[in-house]
Amino acid sequence: MIIILFGAPGVGKGTQAAILANKLSIAHLSTGDAFRAAIKNQTEVGKLAKGYVDAGDLVPDEVVARIVDEAMNDASFANGAILDGFPRTQAQADALAGMLSARGLSVHRVVNIDVDDATIIERLLARGRADDTREIIENRLSVYRQETAPLLDYYTAQDNLVTIDGVGEVEQVNQRILSAIS
Ligand code: AMP
Repeated sequence: MIIILFGAPGVGKGTQAAILANKLSIAHLSTGDAFRAAIKNQTEVGKLAKGYVDAGDLVPDEVVARIVDEAMNDASFANGAILDGFPRTQAQADALAGMLSARGLSVHRVVNIDVDDATIIERLLARGRADDTREIIENRLSVYRQETAPLLDYYTAQDNLVTIDGVGEVEQVNQRILSAIS
């Protein structure tokens, strides 16, 4: 079962993905976490990604594909996965469809987590990651609107998209996601 958690930065994809992966006993693939680890370990992918992650811009699609392909080849992927922060462009969505069909898999559901911008900015400023400054948050939100939000139409056209309200207690939001994927 492949589930995509979709939504702007700060809607809670990472928190919810970790809980779901645990409840459903499937893998959790966060491309953001993968890039941060690669940057920390100064791998080749990390060096390619660093400038983009620091600025809150999207890492180029071909670099993203490398990290996703590697993760999908891991044995833990066999039972399925929660994808968190991927795909973020149409090219990535197309690449994902190809990588999944090569493995006999497909996207079960895309859950769009909806949170208003004011709440997002408040949450991210409180989280305080290196890319959670006001200026970089604004850039990430604008990148989301321009490059990633159009995928909502793509997945709606595939009849795969469910939108849930992402404001509330973590467990309450988690229950909404669980009903959306059942
Ligand atoms: P996140 O942890 O999902 O907020 O991602 C942090 C940063 O990693 C983003 O601002 C991008 O620079 C980069 N990143 C993560 N996932 C992707 C992706 N699918 N495509 C391009 N860049 C990504």
